[in-house]
Amino acid sequence: MIHPSTELRLVNPHVGYGVFASKAIPTGTLVFVQDPLDIVISPEQYQALNEVSRQHAEKYSYLDARGYRILSWDGAKYVNHSCAPNTMSTGWGFEVAIRDIAAGEEITDEYGLFNLEWEMDCCCGHSSCRSRIRPGDAIEYARRWDKELRRALQHVPMVEQPLLAQLDEVSHHSLQQYLNGTKRYRSVRHLLLKRAAADGNVAC
Ligand SMILES: [Zn+2]
Repeated sequence: MIHPSTELRLVNPHVGYGVFASKAIPTGTLVFVQDPLDIVISPEQYQALNEVSRQHAEKYSYLDARGYRILSWDGAKYVNHSCAPNTMSTGWGFEVAIRDIAAGEEITDEYGLFNLEWEMDCCCGHSSCRSRIRPGDAIEYARRWDKELRRALQHVPMVEQPLLAQLDEVSHHSLQQYLNGTKRYRSVRHLLLKRAAADGNVAC
């Protein structure tokens, strides 16, 4: 489920639709949480899809650490990538605003954390654009992204959290423990398919 203070807009004919903040969303706000209405497609179910459904799933879903595809039921599936995104997936799976997002600003995300199966061209236009988004980006940039997320997560208890009630109980409890200092930080490396994580020799 995407944050309620968002709306779908056409970015341009080339990019298609994107998700925009309809009100200011401060750093530390949960912006996306997987909820029970999202469609979860197992590798077997994916293989059994016809070509049209498979293309739709490829375009609009992301792969979790188990290799399952998560296809959001709402506008979340239209969030575009930026190499300087304002939201990012955490090791718990939910997405958080890593900086203040102004009303009217497009919500953007780091696709490098979605277990990409192939490279994608990027035309985000940011000065730090990587030009290509690669399956190995998550391994290469995990340390930097974790640092950004750690900084943003400090704000979680201080801002309004309309999506917190949608967070699954285990993740919610684990997040609370991290925030009160009784549990270690959960790296974005936990989002990676097990094989990819092993290839990158990451353990935490
Ligand atoms: Zn880019």
